[in-house]
Amino acid sequence: MSVEPMVFPAQLRLLPYASLFGLAFALTLGGILARPIESLSLFWPVNAVLAGVLLRYPRQANLAGFALVWLAMVAADLACGSAWSPALWLNLCNLSVVVTVWLLLSRLPRVHRRMRTPRGVLSVFAACAASAVVAASLACVMAAPWFQQSLQATWLAWFSEQFSTSVLVLPVLLTAPSARALVRSGAQAIRLAPLGVLLASLVVSILFGGPGAIAFPIAALLWCAWTYSPFLVSLLTFSAGSTLIVAVAQNLMHFSVPQSVPGVTTLMSARLGIAMLVLGPLVVACVSQANRSLLARLAHQATTDHLTGVLTRSAFTRRATALLDSRQQHAQALPLTLMMLDIDHFKSINDQHGHAVGDQVLRHFARTLQDQLHDGELLARLGGEEFVVMLPGLAPERASFSAERLRRAVQDLHVAQGDARLQITVSIGLDGCSENQQAPSLDELLARADQALYRAKAHGRNRVEQAEPQRQHG
Ligand code: GH3
Ligand code: MG
Ligand code: MG
Repeated sequence: MSVEPMVFPAQLRLLPYASLFGLAFALTLGGILARPIESLSLFWPVNAVLAGVLLRYPRQANLAGFALVWLAMVAADLACGSAWSPALWLNLCNLSVVVTVWLLLSRLPRVHRRMRTPRGVLSVFAACAASAVVAASLACVMAAPWFQQSLQATWLAWFSEQFSTSVLVLPVLLTAPSARALVRSGAQAIRLAPLGVLLASLVVSILFGGPGAIAFPIAALLWCAWTYSPFLVSLLTFSAGSTLIVAVAQNLMHFSVPQSVPGVTTLMSARLGIAMLVLGPLVVACVSQANRSLLARLAHQATTDHLTGVLTRSAFTRRATALLDSRQQHAQALPLTLMMLDIDHFKSINDQHGHAVGDQVLRHFARTLQDQLHDGELLARLGGEEFVVMLPGLAPERASFSAERLRRAVQDLHVAQGDARLQITVSIGLDGCSENQQAPSLDELLARADQALYRAKAHGRNRVEQAEPQRQHG
């Protein structure tokens, strides 16, 4: 029987390209229509946004994709009444930003490209600078006839605008969490103090004025950087940087650059300074995030048994001790039970089926126990095939039923192994303290439950034994 090759309808393959065209057209149109609004005319974020989108969704980043982006930009320009020549050439300069950023960043490993390392942040900065150099140079070569200023002034204007805008915009797109990551992390409360101080420092910058004032928000941005996620920090550097550029352009900050180099304006100087200003907070944000992830991983490794995913012995000791301490603080009111569990004849499973199968059985065994337990009840692997369970709120006299339930669940467990189904049994020893009874230490509880377990083994295994009531706790 021949198998038909799976052919996707042409519309499906064209849809992403059509979307890219639509996006480039809409962004360019939006950019052109926003120009009469004085503050928005200072920015041309279209190139950086498109570069960021193509870096995040790289399937359409090919010759056809780039050609479509250019056509969309030209079409939007023409739709707004531009003449053919400037529309073609100026948008080629714009496209050069998108292509240069793509060429420089697309081959970087994802961890750097998504700005999760200082090297990544610096690479993005370098790519923004390089693409601004390319666009400014192309503008001088191809588009000079449409600018009524010197080549030097044209170059500086393009370079400073493209560099600063890319540095503010591109990190937002590269660090933005995916929809899946957003759903996984859920709604999180954020600390408002760093944000408030950032707002205040921006206000002070603008009120105080002078060339040094653009650096006033650095402290607040650094505070934000080690408090918030890199994405939020990118949004804040974008907002703070744009606000400062607008404030300088509106002459709200009352400073001007002496014309040492012809063509250099105050705004160009401020743009470049602001672009550099956000580098530090972005690096700090990525380093803090890397530290937080590392600490979370270490904490997880320290508390979670790598094979079975239940608590490690040390994590159990900490939590159980805390439980006993809090019990003491509450006049010993809470009863509790501790069980020691040991799989019967586990060595023979390893011997007959190999260590890997033994590991698989251990994982199933732990999951079976976990499924039987409720929130607040502790399960830990003490080592090998020995586990411990602590049940706060349950007195040992009434815990035999729970222990029996665990024993039966293990007995009913079947681990598929090829054609065969492995079965295991467990022996359980338990001890604890009743309501209002003085609790022994954790070590004593463990030792007494272990003695009971020893008796369960001696009396034939696959059974539950209680510690002998020879000693009154309290
Ligand atoms: P008993 O009924 O008396 O408990 O017999 P047993 O065979 O279960 O007891 P024993 O303590 O002699 O054997 C425990 C075995 O558990 C020995 C060891 O090879 C095996 N073991 C310990 N840790 C691991 C592990 O992480 N993975 C696997 N597969 N086996 C382990
Ligand atoms: Mg053992
Ligand atoms: Mg055993």
